[in-house]
Amino acid sequence: MPYIQFLGAAGTVTGSKHLINTRADNSGKQGFQALVDCGLFQGQKEWRERNWQDTPVPAHEIDAVILTHAHMDHAGWIPRLVKEGFRGQVYATSATIDLCGILLPDSGHLQEEDAKFHNQKRSSRHKPALPLYTLLEAQQCLDRFRPVKMGEMMQLSPELAFRFVPAAHILGSSMAEVTLKTDGQTRRLLFTGDIGRVRNHQTAPGKVVHSGPAEGETAEVLVMESTYGNRRHPDTDPRPQLAELIRRAVERGGSVVVPAFAVERTQKFLFMLKELLESGQIPRVSVYCDSPMAIHAVEVFLKHTEDYSEETKALVARYGSPLEWDGFHFARTPEESKKINEIKFPVIIISSSGMVTGGRIQHHLMHRLPDPRNLVIFIGFQAPGTRGATIKSGAPMVKMFGEDVPIRAQVAAVEQFSDHADPPELLEWLRTFKNKPSVTYLVHGEPDASGALRDLMVKELGWNVQIAEWMQKVEVK
Ligand SMILES: [Zn+2]
Repeated sequence: MPYIQFLGAAGTVTGSKHLINTRADNSGKQGFQALVDCGLFQGQKEWRERNWQDTPVPAHEIDAVILTHAHMDHAGWIPRLVKEGFRGQVYATSATIDLCGILLPDSGHLQEEDAKFHNQKRSSRHKPALPLYTLLEAQQCLDRFRPVKMGEMMQLSPELAFRFVPAAHILGSSMAEVTLKTDGQTRRLLFTGDIGRVRNHQTAPGKVVHSGPAEGETAEVLVMESTYGNRRHPDTDPRPQLAELIRRAVERGGSVVVPAFAVERTQKFLFMLKELLESGQIPRVSVYCDSPMAIHAVEVFLKHTEDYSEETKALVARYGSPLEWDGFHFARTPEESKKINEIKFPVIIISSSGMVTGGRIQHHLMHRLPDPRNLVIFIGFQAPGTRGATIKSGAPMVKMFGEDVPIRAQVAAVEQFSDHADPPELLEWLRTFKNKPSVTYLVHGEPDASGALRDLMVKELGWNVQIAEWMQKVEVK
């Protein structure tokens, strides 16, 4: 009987990795083995250490990777899988591949920097500390990627076929519908990856993708994310709130620092700022986009118009490339980045990483957090244990570069930017299913979030819902 084994994103929101094996009959014959997603564990050490463990079946026996989208918690372990001996192909949409072309090498670079840091500080048990994979290894693994069109059926073996359908989460994101034909039976599995905001949602402005997650699905087994299982997004338009926050900070002579993921979230935020500036809702201040990846990401963003919402289409048609806008500056070199620290008049700085776990945002926050005139706005999810979560929690201090940095600046969070559906949206989407799956496994959630979503689905839909456990193997009946 085929089985699924949850190799990550079980009990946590990172490390998404689900192994499908089409045969587990102890006959000695090997089934076709595919990984749906192959993500990095991030956040606390207990999770990150799992990045160093081998897969439970040897990497060279895994035949294929089906990749739902480009976020590193879904794609960031691919270079390591290749390093461990994987020789198959990685199937993804063309936008996902373009985004991976930016994000994976950056991840390799960060792994090398981490190893260098630990060697200098002698703070690793391993001597010398090694990167999980290098920049070069990340670049080389891109050769294994194969583009798949949305909706195109891919037969990977006589037993296993799949197709991508829209997930509406980020550019290029998809859900994977997997069809297994074994023992004369056909079974349909749906892996959601991350699920975006539902169709025509009025309160998610800046949402790039238009159509919402694919509706009318059928599946015997549903493997579903639960990131926002216990939280609701505010249902107000964030633009007036955002304009008010920025206006006040500028009036008191402060600058605005926005930690944002360099790919997609930054581009969306730039378009929103442009709109607020052009309509006179915020004063004409300079905007600095300080992320080495942002320039390349702008190009990828502008190329993949197939996913755009009407609103995004209109904005891109009206304003063109952010790289050419007056008053918007893109810092390419570290020197240009450091120069931003010298600016004494109010500016808006957007930089990454979005959860302040590394990158240039650290310099900006270290420099601007101690001044009460300044404002920090979070526009993304802050995973527990990250510096971003500490700053957002109202803590008086945060540690950066080994120093205690006092937090005196105003700290605000705008939650409407989320690229994940919240519980009411998830229910709305699940109600479009043509059948009741015989079992749903919840993955990709903190325990409280998964638990709350399970209870809600049982109560509202009467479905059989279980919370996946790390390394748990479940038969596909
Ligand atoms: Zn994601």
